[in-house]
Amino acid sequence: MIITIIFFKIVEAVTERSKMLCICSPNNPTGTYISKRVMHHLLDVLPKHMLVLFDAAYSQFATASDYTNGLEFVRAGYPLIVLQTFSKIYGLAGLRVGFGAASADIIKHIMKVKEPFNVNALAQVAAAAALQDDEHVQLSLQSNTRGREQLYHAFQELRLPFIESMSNFILVELGPNAKLIYEQLLNKGIIVRYGGIWQLPHHVRVSIGKEEENTAFIKELTEILASQNLFEWS
Ligand SMILES: *Cc1c(COP(=O)(O)O)cnc(C)c1O
Repeated sequence: MIITIIFFKIVEAVTERSKMLCICSPNNPTGTYISKRVMHHLLDVLPKHMLVLFDAAYSQFATASDYTNGLEFVRAGYPLIVLQTFSKIYGLAGLRVGFGAASADIIKHIMKVKEPFNVNALAQVAAAAALQDDEHVQLSLQSNTRGREQLYHAFQELRLPFIESMSNFILVELGPNAKLIYEQLLNKGIIVRYGGIWQLPHHVRVSIGKEEENTAFIKELTEILASQNLFEWS
């Protein structure tokens, strides 16, 4: 239902002056995604001159059966470019390397403005090796999927509203004290992203960690929330 609304909102926002549509799926910071069916429909109704930029930075964490990483639509000849990064599931953010996949016709235009040596040779070697490392990707995916469930469960116990995520983070609503709670977590050595930068002042975005890291986060959050309640009641 929500996705249908998003579909109409996007179509409604497109005018004859629109040149490019950017879609981030799974999205940052919500963790929501656009289904294969809706994506297909969208590509079919968009004006043919429009380029679709499909940011799939978190694609490897998505487990929904109707998720698409966009590549099938590149192969089918639609005018879209799929972006990938080695900063997320591959854990190579310091190397500054990613890639795009699109038809030769789209790439041809990018090559006209691409700077020479924009990705260093060592980073390219590491990226190519990372692509072969299925075991790392599988283990990270499994750990992330388990961690998501662990945090969902904790948020439910704490009665905190959250958005189900296809990514490696969860957006959770902490209420008007979100910034204070974020700062208190920071004092305990736990770093989450405060939602203020996305105009979500009542939310924080929590990255999924290893089981023991998630446990430590849940413990501190539980304590902070409990002490706040005491404070409010007194
Ligand atoms: C991390 C991220 C990227 C990729 O960033 P790098 O510059 O490759 O580290 C792209 N899009 C989104 C939404 C991201 O969160």
